[in-house]
Amino acid sequence: MPDTTEMPNSPAPLLPPPWHSDDRSRPRIRDVRVILTAPEGTRLVVVKVETDEPELYGLGCATFTQRPLAVATAIEEYLRPQVIGRSVHDIEDLWSMLAVSSYWRSGPVLNNAMSGLDMALWDAVAKARRVPLWKLLADRYNGGKFDDKAWVYAAGGYYYPGKDLDGLQDEMKHYLDLGYSTVKMKIGGVPLADDLKRIEAVLKVIGGKGENLCVDVNGRYDLDQALACGAAIAPYNLRWYEEPLDPLDYLLHAALATRYAPPLATGENLFSMQDARNLIRHGGLRPDRDVLQFDPALSYGLVEYLRTLAMLQRHGWSGRRCVPHGGHQFALNIAVGLGLGGNESYPDVFAPFGGFADDCPVENSLVRLPDIPGVGFEAKSALYRVMRPLAEG
Ligand SMILES: [Mg+2]
Repeated sequence: MPDTTEMPNSPAPLLPPPWHSDDRSRPRIRDVRVILTAPEGTRLVVVKVETDEPELYGLGCATFTQRPLAVATAIEEYLRPQVIGRSVHDIEDLWSMLAVSSYWRSGPVLNNAMSGLDMALWDAVAKARRVPLWKLLADRYNGGKFDDKAWVYAAGGYYYPGKDLDGLQDEMKHYLDLGYSTVKMKIGGVPLADDLKRIEAVLKVIGGKGENLCVDVNGRYDLDQALACGAAIAPYNLRWYEEPLDPLDYLLHAALATRYAPPLATGENLFSMQDARNLIRHGGLRPDRDVLQFDPALSYGLVEYLRTLAMLQRHGWSGRRCVPHGGHQFALNIAVGLGLGGNESYPDVFAPFGGFADDCPVENSLVRLPDIPGVGFEAKSALYRVMRPLAEG
């Protein structure tokens, strides 16, 4: 079937859309480039949007660790030709065009490709306005209101060969030393009795406060296992019990939610507004306590995430119930600018994407964002070292 998309170097539309002022017709996208890199063994796909304004560019992350070449091809061969010549301010329109142009939607390759391009466009737009992304989002969508700091927690507690209870406790002490008060650990990888020992070991380190500990099953339990674990951990009053079940089995979630009263969390494996809507409609989750972890960098970008937030509002959910998965600078901007509940962070894994801007320490599990234009990649030196070759190349 012939590809009906415009070819590279095709001219910009003769007239800008009538709802655009001249101000929004520039800067225009001159090129979209992709860099594949693997700092510390983590395969990353970085997207750069170049504009017709010298020095003005946007950066995004389209990382799909296991399929980087597929994502790179999707961007270079299919998305890039459609956006060259368009204004960076046309993000929503570009997003819709890219989403429908393949007819078949969803799936992790296009999803990550579009998320990375979306992120780079938002970075470029905020830079064009000379404001941080969180400020742009607050002004455009949140009546100018923003949070001074984002609530963050340290995700870790993985199972590693040879890692015993002392090792787990040392890891959690390290997170407390870094300024976190809330931590998360994996469970579900060993018999429940062993996981309960691990949970109690971590509770000891964090002063016995269950509200400062989250546990994450990564979808490994069936309903009986989830209920058994839920009954065992309920007395700890944990902050939340994450992805106990198959993330796409909404009926199972509804069954669990009728019998496990404390907070549940899920959503990192849902990749569109429609997926999120099915969870909200059928998953039995409770807007007064449960936590939604849709990740804007894994689910078609911020344009789609804004639609997800609007859907949540229509169903009676506050944005404060959203704590995106992933621990990246993009979601941090969104959390602060749109008043979400906070953001995940990975102090010790997924370097250099985990962590925060250089001069923004975590204090009592709160962190502020840098006041520089765009997403703020340039203020995080370990990350920007990776991006610099593309940014300046
Ligand atoms: Mg998780």
